[in-house]
Amino acid sequence: MVNFDKMIDNYVYKENKPPSIGRYWPSQIGSCIRKVWYSYKHPKEIDTELQKIFELGNIMHNFVVDVLKSEKNPHVELVNCELPLKLEKDGFTVSGRVDDIILLKEDGKYVIVEVKSHKNIAYVDEPSRAHMVQIMIYMHVSGIHNGIILYIDKNNLKTKFFEVEYDEEFAKKIIDRIKKLDKFLKENKLPPAEAKYDKKLRWMCKFCEYRERCEKDEK
Ligand code: SF4
Repeated sequence: MVNFDKMIDNYVYKENKPPSIGRYWPSQIGSCIRKVWYSYKHPKEIDTELQKIFELGNIMHNFVVDVLKSEKNPHVELVNCELPLKLEKDGFTVSGRVDDIILLKEDGKYVIVEVKSHKNIAYVDEPSRAHMVQIMIYMHVSGIHNGIILYIDKNNLKTKFFEVEYDEEFAKKIIDRIKKLDKFLKENKLPPAEAKYDKKLRWMCKFCEYRERCEKDEK
């Protein structure tokens, strides 16, 4: 018989390429700086279950693209999707893809839309810090200073969204943070266990695949 689970596993499987120092992604930067450092120095295989979650995110984004470009929503125009953006600075590169750029026809406003699928948006009260960091870099590099972080529920397609205004100071702080990470990596110095000592970020440790290593290094 045909094994569909196996076929899906085969389909989503991607060979892991180790990340190269000096090249960063906006989606990493809001994470614990030590965790990102480990992901360069001690990269781990992304397992198939996680690949499937990423694939679900892509499927949800494709759905949002269909909604945005539909003639049934004539007040909005989808100007671009999956637009590659790059920032080259101080010997490092930050590159990523903007999910969507839309034009609100009524007021002629261009808006970046970053789409995040979620397992239960009832629990979403505010945008996550990592998503704010990501969209802020996109706004900084693209020059489009209006943003929306859109959460879409994987169970029922309900949404919650948060408007984000460009904040130049915040964008500069993010770039400084990338510079710091780059320096830690190039000098082979372990950064502080950021999430462990920050009440607001401590939850990250619970899901961190480097927790054991981090605890050992702390000792
Ligand atoms: S365990 Fe916590 S502090 Fe350590 S690397 Fe992971 S997220 Fe960062």
